[in-house]
Amino acid sequence: NHFFDIVRSRLPADPAGKTFLETPEGLRWSYADLVAESGRYAAALVGLGVAPGDRVAVQVEKSPAVIALYLGCVRAGAVFLPLNTGYTPAEIAYFLGDAEPALFVCDPGKLDALKPVAEQAGVKQVGTLDAEGEGTIAAEAAGQTGDFADVARSPDDLAAILYTSGTTGRSKGAMLTHDNLSSNALTLVEYWRFTPDDVLIHALPVFHTHGLFVATNTVLMSGAAMIFLPKLDPPRILSLMGRATALMGVPTFYTRLLKEPGLTREATAGMRLFVSGSAPLLAETHREWQEKTGHAILERYGMTETNMSTSNPYDGDRVAGTVGFPLPGVSLRVVDPETGRAMEADQVGMIEVRGPNVFKGYWRMPEKTAAEFKADGFFITGDLGKVDPRGYVHIVGRGKDLIITGGFNVYPKEVETEIDGLPGVLESAVIGVPHPDFGEGVTAVVVPRGAEAPSEAAILSALESRLAKFKLPKRVIVADELPRNTMGKVQKNLLRDEHKGLYG
Ligand code: ATP
Ligand code: MG
Repeated sequence: NHFFDIVRSRLPADPAGKTFLETPEGLRWSYADLVAESGRYAAALVGLGVAPGDRVAVQVEKSPAVIALYLGCVRAGAVFLPLNTGYTPAEIAYFLGDAEPALFVCDPGKLDALKPVAEQAGVKQVGTLDAEGEGTIAAEAAGQTGDFADVARSPDDLAAILYTSGTTGRSKGAMLTHDNLSSNALTLVEYWRFTPDDVLIHALPVFHTHGLFVATNTVLMSGAAMIFLPKLDPPRILSLMGRATALMGVPTFYTRLLKEPGLTREATAGMRLFVSGSAPLLAETHREWQEKTGHAILERYGMTETNMSTSNPYDGDRVAGTVGFPLPGVSLRVVDPETGRAMEADQVGMIEVRGPNVFKGYWRMPEKTAAEFKADGFFITGDLGKVDPRGYVHIVGRGKDLIITGGFNVYPKEVETEIDGLPGVLESAVIGVPHPDFGEGVTAVVVPRGAEAPSEAAILSALESRLAKFKLPKRVIVADELPRNTMGKVQKNLLRDEHKGLYG
């Protein structure tokens, strides 16, 4: 079993004495417990008839048992397929129909609503697991011995299918192999210097690549420990920093923590690493964090499809507003989307990546898979960006968010950066909205910093001297907040929809 053989080869010297995971409620799993517990889940899955290559779809609340179920799937040769806890039964119907899992595990509280959905989708077995790690699947596992003999799997076999976040449209199932996961985890352990002395505060969801793979696998492959929190809880995170060493979060973690009066140099003195990703971290957040704590947040860039592709350096400058360098073993290039020609330094184009981190393809979407890969194996990320003369990668935004107005390209981030710098502005989102004359009209949605919002006229006149005329918003709309999904990503498609009638 490619993945779990690597885990075994890297187990701490005293697996029973070394903590892998603990919760504030007092649960503690050593590495030996983790191996036994995931072995019980693997045996339970085999007992339920789950065969190698079968999908196990899971929509459950976060608990340590989910990690045992994930690793149990991998060890049984099955394909772990976690689903966002926010998905409605109608959405689950789509995913189950698409993935055709042999088993679907859901929260017992949702069983009445989801059992018929699963049956309709042809799923033969449905089990339960709750936030305390109890349920029919847990009961099956509890009846097994822990000494499971792992099912053989090669590096290229699937370990997981993760659906993308659905920020730009319908979620796609990304097929991830054993080697995709292990290679990326080993790279991150080295790059971010994880050791058995580390204690990671884990407050991310475990249905997404960030919490499931980046955080969990990095801990697992380094013999470190993690403190498992059900969700983002800023005061609690702050109170744990005294005995932790690392935190991984989406930008919202950092903006929320910055509001905590207790966030000081002293409170973070024992921490060695703060990682941010999944959405752009405002340069301002980076600066404020450094001022308050003395730590430079390390921003990295990845996708469900590629695991992690770039990272700011551990030593050396962690440059705000950039995602750092391609990770060892990852090739990254910026090309002209029309001609495929490589761009010069500082020129914006489409980001493409290749390496052992890049997925095998979209589940049951051969045409889409073929369309997103170049003949030489590079994956077209859909993100626009540039590489600066020092080699740092900058993400400018998504190709789908690029605004074409009167034949000119406008990169929303450039306009957002200008607006965000104005007094009285907290943040902004710049979108293209259908416009009868220009095709798309540049439109800014602005969230004020205080109660008094700057006026549309004031914002426009401040921008006039800073941006070319075609980049200027045709309208500025004030909003209380920007719509974000669970990973903290701004949902521009919702904004475009909301304002689609703006220009008649
Ligand atoms: P979908 O593909 O379904 O529309 P999604 O792209 O949001 O959803 P994910 O795979 O969760 O789904 O997110 C990957 C995307 O997140 C990247 O393509 C990029 O746009 C964005 N992203 C991740 N990290 C960063 C970062 N550090 N800075 C800017 N953007 C980032
Ligand atoms: Mg995507």
